[in-house]
Amino acid sequence: MNIEIMIQEYSIPEYLAGVILTALFLGAIFLLLVLARVFKPRWKFYRTDTFHNMTWKWRYKGDKVIDLWCYCPTCESMLIVDDDNSRATSNLGDKATFFICHKCGDSKMGRIKGGDRHYVLKSITRSILAKIRLKTFEVSNGK
Ligand SMILES: [Zn+2]
Repeated sequence: MNIEIMIQEYSIPEYLAGVILTALFLGAIFLLLVLARVFKPRWKFYRTDTFHNMTWKWRYKGDKVIDLWCYCPTCESMLIVDDDNSRATSNLGDKATFFICHKCGDSKMGRIKGGDRHYVLKSITRSILAKIRLKTFEVSNGK
């Protein structure tokens, strides 16, 4: 029904029609937001976990893991990655990536053997996706 006809037929003041329409519109948006939240898959809330004793955080783009990075389990700072040794050696068994926290006195917070930072990020991504697939992940509230 045309809004102008409605106003004429029911003699609703124009401002009131505006208020009602705005309220309906906001109500619809609110409902959509609530539904989106309710139907959002639970794994989308799984955005942090601990691997190799370090805190990892990431986001999703579609069902891909993006912006994956590691944080200090003690002070939450972003960790610095040192994979120089991975580039220097061609022996796979010797390859390792070290994770260093500048805030905690440049201490090594972790070490992952097997490759450089690209290898590490791929490996952690695989662990995340595996946990989602097996539904063994835990969603932490807050942060
Ligand atoms: Zn730290």
